[in-house]
Amino acid sequence: MREVVVIGGGASGMMAAIAAARCGAKVTLIEKNTQAGKKLLMTGNGRCNFTNQDQRLMHYRSQHQKLVEPVLKAFSMEDTVTFFKELGIVVKDRKGYLYPASNQAVSVVKVLQLELRRLLVKEAYHTEVLSVKKQKEGFLVETEGWKYKADAVILACGSMAAPKTGSTGDGYRFARQLGHTVGKVLPALTGVYVKEKDAEKLAGVRMEAKVTLLIDGKNHAEDEGEVQFASYGLSGIPIFQISRYAAWALEDGKKCEICLDFLKEHTFEDVREILEKQKKYTQTRRGVDCLLGIFPEKLSQVLLLRAKISAKKIRKDWTEEEIERLLIQIKRMGFFITRCRGYEQAQVCTGGVPLTEIKGTTMESLKSSGLYLTGELLDVDGACGGYNLQWAWSSGYLAGVHAAKEE
Ligand SMILES: Cc1cc2nc3c(=O)[nH]c(=O)nc-3n(C[C@H](O)[C@H](O)[C@H](O)COP(=O)(O)OP(=O)(O)OC[C@H]3O[C@@H](n4cnc5c(N)ncnc54)[C@H](O)[C@@H]3O)c2cc1C
Repeated sequence: MREVVVIGGGASGMMAAIAAARCGAKVTLIEKNTQAGKKLLMTGNGRCNFTNQDQRLMHYRSQHQKLVEPVLKAFSMEDTVTFFKELGIVVKDRKGYLYPASNQAVSVVKVLQLELRRLLVKEAYHTEVLSVKKQKEGFLVETEGWKYKADAVILACGSMAAPKTGSTGDGYRFARQLGHTVGKVLPALTGVYVKEKDAEKLAGVRMEAKVTLLIDGKNHAEDEGEVQFASYGLSGIPIFQISRYAAWALEDGKKCEICLDFLKEHTFEDVREILEKQKKYTQTRRGVDCLLGIFPEKLSQVLLLRAKISAKKIRKDWTEEEIERLLIQIKRMGFFITRCRGYEQAQVCTGGVPLTEIKGTTMESLKSSGLYLTGELLDVDGACGGYNLQWAWSSGYLAGVHAAKEE
């Protein structure tokens, strides 16, 4: 019987262990935490957005994006849904974002754990792998208390994002030791620090906006949704979505600016008209009271400050130039990004082991036969919306199936 050792009991590792055991291998899953699936429990705000109906390739980013596609085809979103349905998960579809009907990530973790047990996978928890060595035949996986021999090893150690979940970058070290290169890795799906001091005044404000990322003055990426202002800068899903582009651009020494459009459904002219129509009743108001009902007070304050409209000045005395400046702030409030937040706050990492060092859809290493790599360790980062887990399920499943085979 083929012996497979899976290192890392995260999303891709659990999937790989299940797939390998279902194919008849004798599987050991080694995880440094006291149980498997610690990061999974945190996903989707504790609800686990485990995949997405919209599987266009644009949602998966990589230096070699074309190599992502065959993996996603070989174990697709539909396969993922079937896999989880068979394990007892009823799927809830929220505008294409798929969750367990229980609304609890723990359901996903538990069904995976139960399946590992049903398949008699040997689970070695609270066990940190220290090294992986290629032998004449197979591998030797060393932990503090034990040495495991394996015909095949699956590296499913994740990245460095959210290191308190156990993903501390060990997989990169093992991959290097076994002959791989590891490209630059940066935190992604995270908030950003900004240069403008007035951002601090906005801390706590949440506001729908269209977010445009400009790199060296050129539009590079866009997203929409609720922007959250924090003492350090900006956060929220649309900021997460553009953060990986900012991370790479800043790394290359480029200038990154975020432009916020708070009334995206209205043109400049529309907004001018809205303000004009209100004037009949608002003309004797001052400061933030002139923008009541459009923006939260803190935001109005900063908009007026940036537009250089004195808080003392009543609405009817605002000049055309002042209104023009205000419109610009409402439609194009700009913030220069100084840096992205770190690994602690990032949901994923961008970069990693290049897909060109992996064999097609088997996930086997081209540097070391019998070695398989999965999940975030590889150079694939998905958008927010279930794409990172889909990559974990697809790559984990394929690695498990092929590691179990005598190739
Ligand atoms: C807060 C948060 C929310 C998220 N929400 C979503 C979401 O809703 N949808 C989505 O698609 N994605 C989401 N993600 C991303 C997703 O969770 C990850 O992309 C995915 O879990 C990566 O799976 P993985 O198997 O590659 O690595 P991980 O899940 O990180 O697992 C790696 C495992 O390896 C173990 N390990 C590492 N080194 C060793 C060692 N030396 N010895 C033994 N064990 C080791 C770690 O302890 C860890 O358990 C979220 C991430 C975070 C942080």
